[in-house]
Amino acid sequence: MAVNTTTNWNDLTSCPFCGDELASPGAGFIDHIDSSANCEDGFEQWRANIAGDLAGEWSG
Ligand SMILES: [Zn+2]
Repeated sequence: MAVNTTTNWNDLTSCPFCGDELASPGAGFIDHIDSSANCEDGFEQWRANIAGDLAGEWSG
């Protein structure tokens, strides 16, 4: 799977947007963006990018 983003998801123990340590991988990130508007914003944009990529592929 080739995803063209600058976001680093290799290390799920820290937030890829601000670098903060997460309480736990995955679920900890959801809690984190819940309390960090900036990171939530970054996540929304990242997710929109992925969705846009997929939509482009599937519509072709
Ligand atoms: Zn963060």
